[in-house]
Amino acid sequence: MTTVADDKLIKIAYLYEDLMNTYGDSGDVKILRYLLNKDGYEVQVDNVSLDAKFDANDYDFLFFGGGQDYEQTVVAKDLLRHQSTMKDYIEAGKPMLAICGGYQLLGSYYKMIDGTVIDGLGILPLHTVFKPDSRMIGDTEFETEFGPVKAFENHSGRTYFDDKDKLKPLGKMIQGYGNNPDDGVEGMRYKGVIGSYAHGPILRNENIAKAVAKMIIDNHNARLATPAQA
Ligand code: GLN
Repeated sequence: MTTVADDKLIKIAYLYEDLMNTYGDSGDVKILRYLLNKDGYEVQVDNVSLDAKFDANDYDFLFFGGGQDYEQTVVAKDLLRHQSTMKDYIEAGKPMLAICGGYQLLGSYYKMIDGTVIDGLGILPLHTVFKPDSRMIGDTEFETEFGPVKAFENHSGRTYFDDKDKLKPLGKMIQGYGNNPDDGVEGMRYKGVIGSYAHGPILRNENIAKAVAKMIIDNHNARLATPAQA
């Protein structure tokens, strides 16, 4: 039970916060909380971890951070329980930010260093292959529709789009690798979903942070306007 009126309470689901939080990605959620508070909203962040009961459509925003390979294997199995509600949420155009390992798990699969293939949610037509010989580490800069974004990356997974009509890159590389060393692009946009390899956290870039905060508020208002299902 909350004391805050529903119209001023924004609910964020932080997927596997305890397992998927490499390189300070939780900073993205802190920045969003700050911006939303400034706009007069209270923010509730729920850690949706292993075995949790979860319906994506109860939330205004989903956040999924990066993770190491081992944690990804554990998370990937549990995540499949939420395939249908997350697909509904995403296809309805609701907002989500997925970074690095979280971004990878929205796709069809992640092929690991030993050749093992982890199934992703299969919601987005993309896949990722781990290449051990050339980890992509360093500062990145890329141009997006929100303006230039500066961050850093640290991953061995190379992500490729399987349907380039459906998925659009988040940005064009100025510095660094982004999705892979071949395409010259960083991250992904599909409806309300932003996927990215950018840590830093990415939302320290005010331009994109404000755009995401606006997406959340718009979705929150739309959720309030829709009568709850019986
Ligand atoms: N383990 C994945 C990779 O190396 C993701 C890393 C991350 O999320 N930081 O590609």
